[in-house]
Amino acid sequence: MRVLVIGAGLAGPCLAHGLLRHGHDVRVLERDAAVDARAQGYRIHINADGDAALRRWLPPADYEQARATSCLTTRGVAFAGPDLREFREIEVPPEASGLTVDRLTLRRIMLRGLTGSVRFGAAFSRYDLLDDGTVRVHLADGSTAEGDLLVATDGANSGVRRQLLPDFPVTVRDTRLIYGRTPLTAHVRALTPEPALGGFLGIVGPAGRQLALSAQQFRRSPAEFGLPEAEDYVMWSVAGDFGPELLDLGAAEQLNLAADSIADWHPSLSALVRLGDLRYVVPANIQSSERPGPWPPVPVTLVGDAAHPMPPAGISAGTAIHDAGLLAARLVSGAPLLDALRSYEREMLDHGFAAVAASSRNHAG
Ligand SMILES: Cc1cc2nc3c(=O)[nH]c(=O)nc-3n(C[C@H](O)[C@H](O)[C@H](O)COP(=O)(O)OP(=O)(O)OC[C@H]3O[C@@H](n4cnc5c(N)ncnc54)[C@H](O)[C@@H]3O)c2cc1C
Repeated sequence: MRVLVIGAGLAGPCLAHGLLRHGHDVRVLERDAAVDARAQGYRIHINADGDAALRRWLPPADYEQARATSCLTTRGVAFAGPDLREFREIEVPPEASGLTVDRLTLRRIMLRGLTGSVRFGAAFSRYDLLDDGTVRVHLADGSTAEGDLLVATDGANSGVRRQLLPDFPVTVRDTRLIYGRTPLTAHVRALTPEPALGGFLGIVGPAGRQLALSAQQFRRSPAEFGLPEAEDYVMWSVAGDFGPELLDLGAAEQLNLAADSIADWHPSLSALVRLGDLRYVVPANIQSSERPGPWPPVPVTLVGDAAHPMPPAGISAGTAIHDAGLLAARLVSGAPLLDALRSYEREMLDHGFAAVAASSRNHAG
């Protein structure tokens, strides 16, 4: 079967590995010009479902590298108030455990084995369903590609989903996020509260303001596996009512806004944010979605954030990778394509929208 996968984020490469291993012809089309075209070196927690899918569908050596270069975690999840006077550790349920990695390092590991199958600089613009039951994809550069199946792993603002389900119910919240990272120098280590050095620390302040802090300390250097050297860092995200204009500001203004919004908190927190690396400052909307009604059986399907955008709560990446594994399993089962898709979509929507509900509960802002 010829499978066109739009997007080489987290789910797309995992799906591609699973299908290639079973002899399918896979082409992954990615809009970015290269794996590291945008600064994407964030610490990302992949829950147990996602970890299980990576273990099952990646080549074993890749999975071992992902674990070896994952984040050194010695603590779990803790919360504190803005004065940092007291830290409250919470019990993490087993299904939330998994793998914490640097996103770019994981993508580099997954994409290294897919060089012949991935095309960068290939932005999806639309598809046609052809009379013979196949699909033609039109790319922004005017070129086309044809396949038996089109899979959308193009993230929360999926262009494939916009065409497949134009009325898909997505909502954008008033609270917005500014993500960033600060290199873990000795000075920054001294500024970072202890629970954030070994785990995740959430700091909840008044008026919907929140700060999340977690250090990425590589267990083993990616350079040991022939990948580019990577530095340890503290990842942070500041949530607040920044207004839609946040997305149009430059990185320095976004960083200042993030630091200013917590300037009346414990002084080490805004100092840590102000030392952030401007290349990695990213503003983000917080989106949520509702389960769509059934759609007609076509050889086009959705995976991950493209299928179920959700507020950030440490679940969406694992859910996306879990979807990829589920779809791979259905496609290699030998069932007729549209039956395999129907079975995948039912299970994916049940699991994905349970994750949306859990994320919405954990991220009420
Ligand atoms: C800074 C940050 C930190 C996060 N931390 C966590 C975390 O700790 N835990 C967690 O569970 N989740 C986290 N998330 C969310 C998580 O990254 C996503 O849920 C996850 O990446 C979804 O995977 P995906 O494969 O569905 O989509 P993505 O990883 O978003 O991949 C989509 C890909 O499609 C490409 N694309 C988009 N449009 C097109 C197009 N038209 N043509 C071709 N390609 C296209 C994009 O360039 C991208 O490579 C975080 C997100 C951010 C921004």
